[in-house]
Amino acid sequence: MIAVDRELCDFCGTCVAVCQPDAIFLAERDIRIDLEKCTDCENCVIACPLGAMREVSDEDRF
Ligand code: SF4
Ligand code: SF4
Repeated sequence: MIAVDRELCDFCGTCVAVCQPDAIFLAERDIRIDLEKCTDCENCVIACPLGAMREVSDEDRF
């Protein structure tokens, strides 16, 4: 699954723009992924300039 490292994220919104199923929700200083909508396409992982989006196992969620 995809997870966001909030320590790295600067809430720029780049990942929101590339997420076709609109699974990423960005509010002021907060970001969340709707795992029901996420298709694991990894577009956000590729697009994030800070490496804050990562594919992780269930055990590694942060
Ligand atoms: S692209 Fe990266 S830094 Fe920008 S909001 Fe998304 S996770 Fe955060
Ligand atoms: S992996 Fe794809 S569907 Fe899931 S949050 Fe990232 S861009 Fe959206």
